[in-house]
Amino acid sequence: MSNDTTTRSAAALAGRLTDIRRELHRNPELSHEEFETTRRIKSWLEAAGIRMADYPLKTGVIAEIGTGSPVIALRADIDALPIQEETGLPFASIVPGKMHACGHDFHTAALVGAAYLLKEQEQELKGTVRLIFQPAEEKAKGARQVIESGALEGVRAIFGLHNKPDLPVGTIGIKGGPLMAAADGFVVEVAGRGSHAAVPEAGNDPVLTAAHIVTALQSIVSRNVGALDSAVISVTKVNSGTAWNVIPEKAVLDGTVRTFDPAVRRRVRQRFDQVAAGVAAAFDTTAVVRWIEGPPPVYNDEGLAELAWREAERLKLLPVSPVPSLAGEDFAAYQQQVPGLFVFVGTDGPKEWHHPAFDLDERALPVAADFLAGTAIRAISNFAAEPQDPKEDFQ
Ligand SMILES: [Zn+2]
Ligand SMILES: [Zn+2]
Repeated sequence: MSNDTTTRSAAALAGRLTDIRRELHRNPELSHEEFETTRRIKSWLEAAGIRMADYPLKTGVIAEIGTGSPVIALRADIDALPIQEETGLPFASIVPGKMHACGHDFHTAALVGAAYLLKEQEQELKGTVRLIFQPAEEKAKGARQVIESGALEGVRAIFGLHNKPDLPVGTIGIKGGPLMAAADGFVVEVAGRGSHAAVPEAGNDPVLTAAHIVTALQSIVSRNVGALDSAVISVTKVNSGTAWNVIPEKAVLDGTVRTFDPAVRRRVRQRFDQVAAGVAAAFDTTAVVRWIEGPPPVYNDEGLAELAWREAERLKLLPVSPVPSLAGEDFAAYQQQVPGLFVFVGTDGPKEWHHPAFDLDERALPVAADFLAGTAIRAISNFAAEPQDPKEDFQ
């Protein structure tokens, strides 16, 4: 499994990291239920003599290597999805209806690998690397729980990664600025007046209104968002009615809005509310829009992106400037607190994230481990050179 783009230490770890990834893959656990995953991560870290840090988390693990400041955090997410696996792999999920279809098993194994590499160099570390194995990313809740536990306190910068099926192994997608989208949800409740299907004039048809709202919403991206800005509006659920010959009382639409720019996000929401209310009024019905606030955009620190790019080159990896993804990622929550960098690691997979046949090339495991460890060390030496906050002398 060795890969000529990784350091000798990382290449030596490749077999072990593959075993770890496959054990996680076989035993997926959903968001907030990652109890066995938590136990496994602790045992892998403790076997290498890595110390646990005590933060109140029900699932997930925080551990540390080195001492003192600066503190650099490395984050991996650990949860799986409610999807029935269809890969046919010998190490496929043994849990019906659950699968690591986003590759968080890969992220976890890569961070364990980075921990092993950093532990080997602990004596030379001029600061602390805090390892964050975060629960419940898929529900966009875990990052917030980690922040509330206090595990981000004192952190100077945070790094995280996601596997990327459309990038080849050995590449690292690094860019400053927006990388992943704000992912808001919406529910539109259209209220009309029911009647016999043969006597529509006696009612106000919410199905007709909902159909017009779905169509009119699509004008927002084409008419209210600049051609060089990005937004997506997808209506993904339409619910109404109980019988073929009855005009129902109401119709409900669900879906998601994806944006990168906060101003575009505000504008899309404002137009969305106007379009829903205006179309409903035109058909003598009413529409109430409820917003489900998702994670903000993943917005990368330019300085950290440069630092990571240099480290990727030193490791003889191929840094590339990636196309941003309209998917959401709760890593964004950390970036609201401290400077952060989220990168894509090429895994050359057959299918996109969340597909039942999702898989990845495990040769990317030592690449990711090497990159995380190297970037943490580079960040520590970078920030250790900065003038210290006098308060820290007394800690
Ligand atoms: Zn996912
Ligand atoms: Zn994911």
